[in-house]
Amino acid sequence: MGFIDLHVHTLASDGLFTPQEVVQWAYKKNLKAIAITDHDTTDGIEKAIITGKQLGVEVIPGIEINTDYNGLEVHILGYYIDYRANWFQELLKNIRHARQIRAKKMVEKLQNLGLHIDLDEVEKLAGDASIGRPHIARILQKHNYVQSIKEAFDKYINNTGPAYVERYKITPCEAIKTIIDCGGVPVLAHPGLIGNLSIVKELVDCDLQGIEVYHSKHNPETTNLYFHIAKQYNLIITGGTDCHGHLYGGQPILGSLNIDESLLHELKKRKDILE
Ligand code: AMP
Ligand code: FE
Ligand code: FE
Ligand code: ZN
Repeated sequence: MGFIDLHVHTLASDGLFTPQEVVQWAYKKNLKAIAITDHDTTDGIEKAIITGKQLGVEVIPGIEINTDYNGLEVHILGYYIDYRANWFQELLKNIRHARQIRAKKMVEKLQNLGLHIDLDEVEKLAGDASIGRPHIARILQKHNYVQSIKEAFDKYINNTGPAYVERYKITPCEAIKTIIDCGGVPVLAHPGLIGNLSIVKELVDCDLQGIEVYHSKHNPETTNLYFHIAKQYNLIITGGTDCHGHLYGGQPILGSLNIDESLLHELKKRKDILE
């Protein structure tokens, strides 16, 4: 029996580890497989696959697309996407471009609130990555405007915060369709954080294939609830820590949910059916 983690971020989006470091941690933690699921980018996948081959850790190519469902933020995971497809990369490029424009607007709002941070610094921190609010939060923390990333969100940049700016998002159904069109398996990420049950049926009608039942922020009740919903709609069950590379007692949360590798077999079966 082996354990896996199907939801992991790298420096390519808002994670803190390079793809190589993520795989090294997976190896140290004796994981059989991990999926790289960065926000709106696949740039971390190839490097992770190479390191995975060296260390004997299976790396599944994935993505997490942040979408908008009537004002609610809904994240769709895609597994086994053909990330080399040109049209797919073009779409992701457009989404990332919108992120850059939105980061600029958010920095301006923060400046208007009297906080002295500049866009260059945020962009430099993000580097080639898909730029997001966590990068802004880290700069706020660096300049001691907040003591933690959480405080940055709570005080300034969560969805109701004074410096929040909407960004361009596709709908969950569009994300599901996109993932299927590039050969992937679409899965609803951390539904417990959305708190809207009716969305599942609607997404099943647009061809959703799975639900992330196991997630670091799901409590036992939520896990149980979505387990049964997955069964009801014949959806596959996935799970992952959503590790962003933060250390707790010197360790990232990667692999800490002890997700059984049998879930990966079911994911592969579903991929084969869709082909
Ligand atoms: P963005 O995609 O730029 O809107 O940023 C969303 C990302 O910010 C999420 O994927 C999380 O990594 C992070 N995030 C969202 N809310 C919080 C929060 N309250 N505390 C810490 N990180 C958060
Ligand atoms: Fe994130
Ligand atoms: Fe997410
Ligand atoms: Zn995530």
